[in-house]
Amino acid sequence: MYVVATPLGNLQDITLRSLAVLRAVDVIAAEDTRHSQRLLDACGIRTKMLALHEHNEQTAAGQLIDLLAQGRQVALISDAGTPAVSDPGARAVARVRAAGHPVVPVPGACAAVAALSVSGFAEGGFRFVGFLPPKSAARRTALEKLAGERDALVLYEAPHRIAECVADIEAVFGGEREILIARELTKMHEEIARMPLAETAPWFAADANRSRGEFVLVVAGAPEAEGLDVEAERVLALLLADLPVKTAARLAAEISGAPKNALYARALELKSLGDA
Ligand code: SAM
Repeated sequence: MYVVATPLGNLQDITLRSLAVLRAVDVIAAEDTRHSQRLLDACGIRTKMLALHEHNEQTAAGQLIDLLAQGRQVALISDAGTPAVSDPGARAVARVRAAGHPVVPVPGACAAVAALSVSGFAEGGFRFVGFLPPKSAARRTALEKLAGERDALVLYEAPHRIAECVADIEAVFGGEREILIARELTKMHEEIARMPLAETAPWFAADANRSRGEFVLVVAGAPEAEGLDVEAERVLALLLADLPVKTAARLAAEISGAPKNALYARALELKSLGDA
């Protein structure tokens, strides 16, 4: 089974190998066959499709295994980008592997990697988070666990939640941390902006179009809490046992004279270590 990446919007982002594979296989399993028919039509490909989406993945995987057992070749695609990355496919891949058939990647577009590549944040590494919980309280809890992460974070978010999601990231990570907002990648209205989190609310408010379309967020990793002496660390740890991160960092700065930013970064780190 070939796992084939398809474009995020710009049809020219399909690779030559993807076209050859999609043309050659006997069946293409697609997340939404009507959506993918447009791609196949545009590329002059007439291969048969079957639906494989989150509600029928097990049954469809069974069909694919039957086809493979008969010596047929199959490909798996999703609506856009790389299958099985915040998309259906992982369960089918696992089933096909377990049935003893090879699973071959045909790489190409992936929204997370495209945004990361233009972020300039990923020197040290990155963590793919995908979608956060839709409700604010659960989202903030998830963010608190990620706040001390040193690597850049890559998130997906839907347009109707984008502004509130970014506001929650600011509330938990602080306004100084940098974020890259990548909107409508590879499409006509592509927009990519990098700024401190404190500037995001006015950025969204300045133009209603900035909340439309598809989004990837890349958030810089937590800064290193450099230069904290033992006494500042001790005060911070004591305060953190009973107080929220922001208050503990502010009071520890007042008591110890150490920089508030460094204490805040260290507090996030300690909190995420404690929650892990
Ligand atoms: N598997 C896909 C991939 O590899 O890119 C992602 C699928 S996930 C269901 C869809 C999410 O990916 C969107 O909600 C958005 O966060 C992101 N996305 C997809 N296409 C995008 C684009 N053209 N620009 C920005 N984000 C995009």
